Amino acid sequence: MQQDELKTLFKKNNALLTGHFKLSSGLHSDTYFQSALILQYPKEAEFLAQELAKKLKENNITIDVVVSPAMGGVIIGYEMGRALGVRAIFTERVDGKVLFKRGFSLKESEKVLIIEDVITTGLSTKEVIEFIKLSGCKIVAVGSLVDRSAGKVDFGVPTFSLLSLEVKSYKEQECPMCKEGVVVIKPGSRK
Ligand SMILES: [Zn+2]
Repeated sequence: MQQDELKTLFKKNNALLTGHFKLSSGLHSDTYFQSALILQYPKEAEFLAQELAKKLKENNITIDVVVSPAMGGVIIGYEMGRALGVRAIFTERVDGKVLFKRGFSLKESEKVLIIEDVITTGLSTKEVIEFIKLSGCKIVAVGSLVDRSAGKVDFGVPTFSLLSLEVKSYKEQECPMCKEGVVVIKPGSRK
């Protein structure tokens, strides 16, 4: 599927909005992305996972298990597990630290795919990578629905995303839309 078609699909579900937004970080932005608004529809979630799985298959990447960080990555991680026919588990954050709960674990020989909904700075994904490495597993790829860094983040493994977005964000004092007097919208809670 082409980037334009994907954008249209996200927009149709109000998952991708353009305008003038105040993000939870306080920064102003011309784009707002809320993956939960498209992933609430199982049919769309399944379709997006299949599209992402195609990219892995095209690159002959085989995996044993999908790991995604909660909350944002859980639904798309699970659908990736379905698309690839493997199990899907998730990490959680406890006292600021990324770890497995609920009895989830990895075997040393397993090939891991990390799945996110959105990659922005890549910092939280890197924390998951560091945690997974403790298990002695091989991380074979990172995937996300949306890459807001437009491919600028380097995880040291092949990285795939469905939609690559160059999102402009500004401090309030420097925001060109504020200067033009455009009304700022504060969307609902983050991710
Ligand atoms: Zn502004």
